[in-house]
Amino acid sequence: MAAQVRLAALNAPTVPPEPEVDDELRELEEISRSLEGHTLSAATRRAYATAWRAFEDFCTGHGLEALPAHPETVRWYVAWMSTQLDDDGVPRFSVATIRQRLAGIGERHLRGGLLDPTAHRGVVDLVRGLAKLRATRPRRKRPLLLDDVVRIIAAMEHDTYPGGVSATRDAVALWLGFAGALRRSEAAALTLDRLELHVVDGVHVHVGASKADPENALPDVVVLPFGSSPASCPPCAVHRWVVLLGLARQDDARTRRRGIMQQLFSYGLEEHVCGAAGSTALISSADLASDAPLLRATYRNRKDARIHARAVTGDALHTMLLSRMVEAGMNPAAYGFHSLRAGHVTQARRNGASTEEIMRAGRWSRAATVDVYDREFNPAARNSVMRLGL
Ligand SMILES: [Zn+2]
Repeated sequence: MAAQVRLAALNAPTVPPEPEVDDELRELEEISRSLEGHTLSAATRRAYATAWRAFEDFCTGHGLEALPAHPETVRWYVAWMSTQLDDDGVPRFSVATIRQRLAGIGERHLRGGLLDPTAHRGVVDLVRGLAKLRATRPRRKRPLLLDDVVRIIAAMEHDTYPGGVSATRDAVALWLGFAGALRRSEAAALTLDRLELHVVDGVHVHVGASKADPENALPDVVVLPFGSSPASCPPCAVHRWVVLLGLARQDDARTRRRGIMQQLFSYGLEEHVCGAAGSTALISSADLASDAPLLRATYRNRKDARIHARAVTGDALHTMLLSRMVEAGMNPAAYGFHSLRAGHVTQARRNGASTEEIMRAGRWSRAATVDVYDREFNPAARNSVMRLGL
């Protein structure tokens, strides 16, 4: 008899019977169910879904569990977000965005009946600290203007052997950063055949795919124009360097040395060597028909001025600029290779360039990025204070 009762209990329907409630309660129940779906606006729900997907990706990428997430995992995620920069050195995630991402993670946990790891004291303190840190201005590389670039290049010993070899190369690197507004990785990645001599414009540089444009979908040709004088002439620098690259290919050490010495000792700033102003050009298009790197490492050997086949690194260009600044008697603190690109924007703006012109030269797709540079370096640009007639 007892066994039969147990069996009956087991066979009982698992769905609880409809409670006997009166109509009013039934109606309240319906209202409460419909309200549940409306506690989050559609926009917030989308933001939370995005936040959750991003967090899951982070966890997958780092072999961490996303649900439930340990507070330490969330702290790592916050630390990771806080260090992400876009290509112009601007933080990718604002503190507001980070808070929203955390809200999405918290909501997903609470919805699953789990403890909210983002409410952990360690996470809350971290975000608070980050907000404080971000409230102070980020330190941006200061711009190098045209006079600075000319001064740095003039301080190099171009007409000595073998020091003139790296000086010739570094002048090209500086003009690529300043006139071409190239990032250091872009300058380091150039090959000879990315350069094209142009009778009217000077030199065209096809930048190619880059961190900012991995698919190479944006217009990517920058111009190194003829300078008004040889001292500020990027094409002259290119011609001098490519000639050295040719001479350095000589197998015989003596011939090589003699050729390079001759070239370096004839360095002069009285005349262009790029074909401008009726001058004779040192190189022709045929000298650029090679996929070898443009900016290459040089041997530091007093007796021989050989040039490596491998390209310089972006980091090396950065270090080079700083030491060249010291040689020119300048303080390199707060400067970097990016100072050349920032300097291009600043100099061009001061000379009256429009946002559209700057976007084109810097290969930016958003005017907002140019605004960032203006706010930092050109407080007088497009500022009505300049129209007060003071
Ligand atoms: Zn020239």
